[in-house]
Amino acid sequence: MTEIPVKKSCDVEGCSKESKKTVSREKAGAAIKEAGLNLSVRDKVTKAHLCADHYRKIKKKLKKDREIDRLRWG
Ligand SMILES: [Zn+2]
Repeated sequence: MTEIPVKKSCDVEGCSKESKKTVSREKAGAAIKEAGLNLSVRDKVTKAHLCADHYRKIKKKLKKDREIDRLRWG
């Protein structure tokens, strides 16, 4: 019953830090692009793994998306 967690590294191009958060690739990709960076994941991948630093960097943008959703649904 021992499950060894697979250590993934950050999916931001040029970053090899340990991934801490998983975000939908679509959302992360847009936010990362806005930050002037690129994700190094394949198109078919639905989740992007981010290190703490990069997650923090795009967290605000992800939050903004959620607010837009809320406005849309009134
Ligand atoms: Zn990173």
